[in-house]
Amino acid sequence: MNPSRRHPSPPTFVSSRLLKLSLLLLLSLPDSKGKAIWTAHLNITFQVGNRIISELGESGVFGNHSPLERVSGAVVLPDGWNQNACNPLTNFSRPEQAESWLALIERGGCTFTHKINVAAEKGAQGVIIYNYPGTGNKVFPMSHQGTENIVAVMIGNLKGMELLHLIRKGVYVNIIIEVGRVHMPWLSQCIMFLFTFLSTTIAYIFLYCAWRSGMPIYSARRRRQVKASVKKAVGQLQLRVLTEGDKEVDPHEDTCVICFDVYKPQDVVRILTCKHFFHKTCIDPWLLARRTCPMCKCDILKT
Ligand SMILES: [Zn+2]
Ligand SMILES: [Zn+2]
Repeated sequence: MNPSRRHPSPPTFVSSRLLKLSLLLLLSLPDSKGKAIWTAHLNITFQVGNRIISELGESGVFGNHSPLERVSGAVVLPDGWNQNACNPLTNFSRPEQAESWLALIERGGCTFTHKINVAAEKGAQGVIIYNYPGTGNKVFPMSHQGTENIVAVMIGNLKGMELLHLIRKGVYVNIIIEVGRVHMPWLSQCIMFLFTFLSTTIAYIFLYCAWRSGMPIYSARRRRQVKASVKKAVGQLQLRVLTEGDKEVDPHEDTCVICFDVYKPQDVVRILTCKHFFHKTCIDPWLLARRTCPMCKCDILKT
């Protein structure tokens, strides 16, 4: 039985897996320029009847090219039913009492840069863009190169629709946008990579140690099995007692190559499968130790 077949080498197997995993994780790492994501706190205030309702939530994220500043103002929709503000002629009807205002614009139809610039040209202090319908509260940091001087945040579609309906009903909505917390997704990915790499390395070392410690046990068992087979094979080899008159006891014939003594009558000899023979007392210990014929090297387990 081939030992290497019964015991596939765990270190080789695990090391190839480890290498593949490491490469995969390295390739999946973001480049070192990965930006931090800044959340935006939106303090929303509006009046319904005599009640002033105010809510504060970390419901937005700043765009990648937005200044991280606090801005506030009345929330104003683009005029008409089209809310994407892609048309450069889009108007925003700001309430007369509002000193400053923020544009609330729907995502899509043109680039973020384009719609933010349309609102900025009309005098908005900030732009709030809400995500596509069906995206729930999902937000992400927008890319809007070329709009560096105006605050731009994204909010979820649900929150955007809520504000849209209020304003369309004629409710005056005021929002204060404040800088929230910073998130570094690339940093948490780095930590995840290190954690995975370390745990895989530890698992590899553990398996390797277990494999190494199992080797002597296996080898000792294998040696015992071979020894038992040799003993059995030796016992099955033919024995013969030499007598007066046998040509083997002629002093001019060959001697036993193990003890160099001549064969004498009454000597017990063991005859191997290769037909070579030796004193039983000489060849038995020899075979148990070496299992081959001292003359022709034939293996008693193979013949
Ligand atoms: Zn001998
Ligand atoms: Zn032989």
